Amino acid sequence: MKKIFLLVTLISLCFSCKNEASNEEIAEANNAIETPAEKPEFAIIIHGGAGTILKKNMTPEKEAAYKAKLEEAIRVGYDILKNGGSSIDAVEKTINVMEDSPLFNAGKGAVFTNAETNELDASIMDGKTLNAGASAGTTTVRNPINLARAVMEKSKHVMLSGNGAEVFAEEQGLTLVDPSYFHTDRRLESLKRVKEREAKASTSSATKTGKVDTESAYLNFYDADIKNAKFGTVGCAALDKNGNLAAGTSTGGMTNKRYGRVGDAPIIGSGTYANNATCAVSSTGWGEYFIRAQVAHDISALMDYKGLSLKEAAKIVLDKVKDLGGDGGIVAVDKDGNMVADFNTAGMYRATMNDKGELTIGIYND
Ligand code: ASP
Repeated sequence: MKKIFLLVTLISLCFSCKNEASNEEIAEANNAIETPAEKPEFAIIIHGGAGTILKKNMTPEKEAAYKAKLEEAIRVGYDILKNGGSSIDAVEKTINVMEDSPLFNAGKGAVFTNAETNELDASIMDGKTLNAGASAGTTTVRNPINLARAVMEKSKHVMLSGNGAEVFAEEQGLTLVDPSYFHTDRRLESLKRVKEREAKASTSSATKTGKVDTESAYLNFYDADIKNAKFGTVGCAALDKNGNLAAGTSTGGMTNKRYGRVGDAPIIGSGTYANNATCAVSSTGWGEYFIRAQVAHDISALMDYKGLSLKEAAKIVLDKVKDLGGDGGIVAVDKDGNMVADFNTAGMYRATMNDKGELTIGIYND
């Protein structure tokens, strides 16, 4: 009897050893997908917005222009990181290049509100200190990401909005511009097209109900049509040589927005999040859903509390956005230098660079 018991114990011990070994193998296999052979000294990833970006709607010239600007932007951050600079500096300066380009919906080239103004939102976060700064609805600050950084570093607050944010920007010596600086014909055309479609929606609802209700036409139209709007928010996530993570996001928001609408981009935990213990994330997409799903923080929390990889966490959270009815994407880098660009739209302008200077650029879902 004793012999049989010993045998059974031995066999079960062997099985449990085998199970442990195979679990380790699985963990290693996953790590092998996620972790570069050697942990990179630094890494940087950017986006220029996600949305209905289809090859059939793109000309070779336009595609080349986007790629060139993405490369110019990411190389600015890469150089900072390579020379031992901070991830916060890399994020801010990289975003500045895209804010200054009319190609993107941030800074110059921001989309128009219903009142034909440009109201800009931005945020930035330091993964080392968990300090963060954001600004919403500004119309005269040339580079809203610089304002977000000033809020983070030079104020006791996390978010400033509207006129007060602009007074603070002036006090901080940031570059202010006339609101017309942000105007571009292309974005004005987009607003006109959206308004025409909105007016049609209003007329057809008036035909049915006998009453013209532009407010509810706006709200219904906004819901139904915004999915097809082109986005172009910009964002960046970076890991520096000191192991510090940072992320930032800057946007003009959504075309035809009203009532002082603010999206996810300036909301810490939705549009931007960074924590040295996990990852740095910048989001882009249908802001209302990204706020409700708390996208950027949720990705970090899944890594923190559940031990998921960045890739796994990003997928779960973007699926959640999709289930709610929203769409968009994220770029992120984790504390080990793994980079993820994930999106559930037709495309997302994006680029990565590692410490070897290897560059990748993507636009479509390939
Ligand atoms: N997330 C931005 C917003 O809702 C828009 C975008 O990323 O395209 O304001």
